[in-house]
Amino acid sequence: MEKPPLTILLAGPRGFCAGVERAVQIVERALQRFGAPVYVRHEIVHNRYVVGRLESQGAIFVDELDAVPEGAPVVFSAHGVPKAVPQEAERRHLLSLDATCPLVNKVHREAEHHFAQGRRIILIGHDGHPEVIGTMGQLPQGAVLLIEHADDVASLAVDDDEPLAYVTQTTLSIDDTLAVIEALKARFPGIHGPKRDDICYATTNRQQAVKAIAARCDRMLVVGAPNSSNSLRLVEVARQSGCPAAALIGRARDIDWDSLRDTHCLGLTAGASAPEILVEEVVEACRLRFRVTIEEIAVTREGVSFNLPRALIA
Ligand code: SF4
Repeated sequence: MEKPPLTILLAGPRGFCAGVERAVQIVERALQRFGAPVYVRHEIVHNRYVVGRLESQGAIFVDELDAVPEGAPVVFSAHGVPKAVPQEAERRHLLSLDATCPLVNKVHREAEHHFAQGRRIILIGHDGHPEVIGTMGQLPQGAVLLIEHADDVASLAVDDDEPLAYVTQTTLSIDDTLAVIEALKARFPGIHGPKRDDICYATTNRQQAVKAIAARCDRMLVVGAPNSSNSLRLVEVARQSGCPAAALIGRARDIDWDSLRDTHCLGLTAGASAPEILVEEVVEACRLRFRVTIEEIAVTREGVSFNLPRALIA
């Protein structure tokens, strides 16, 4: 029986960003330089495939530093860590390698700057996300208040004349964040903040790429992890931009093939922590069942890269 036709619209850019590339390279270089095992505090990036591949090379992922033997190399994840973590590593004579994305570090410095100016900081982000824990942990308890939605602004327990500033998580929805910022500015006209928000180039570009194809797609698959903020936002953006049938999958084996039976045009993208090999795997799985035509729609090309820590440069 002849296979049915399927057009796959590949969103561009998609997948690995410069911060994730750098974090993975830091673990790989550390393994080369110091030998296995190299310890990594938390998932280096939110992707099981990436974590499993590094584990097979000798990385050991731990929840906290007390699981790391004295003197051993330990990498902090791309999401950033509270200040107390490197301090504890130093106290335990661990060899710290910081894989915090430079764009997350930039938000940390912004928060510190506002604090030094005597301002209370409002962080727009998702409660419990490691990046939020890391950003709040740059400053003493109570210095940073967390909000998630525009509705949270009205109930913020601050005086209207208190000096304030806002910063944001890097992986939020651009449109939802704009609504929160507008609500903040409406209640606190003097609030300080970045020119727009702190959402990074990679999150922005991946959301724009999804918006560009969503209305043409019967369905959209986002390759990513359920704990990856930017992947979840891509599913939401697809749904809000004309493709209600958008779903998150970890790998090709998660595809619900029944749901693709009447699909003629499938959108495909990947969160910033999902490697391209997993997108290729989805395309190959589609080829087994459909006569696939690929169309790549790139809204921009990225040429961003970040330097490795000095300790790992030859
Ligand atoms: S998603 Fe953005 S902030 Fe996060 S690691 Fe990638 S470039 Fe850095």
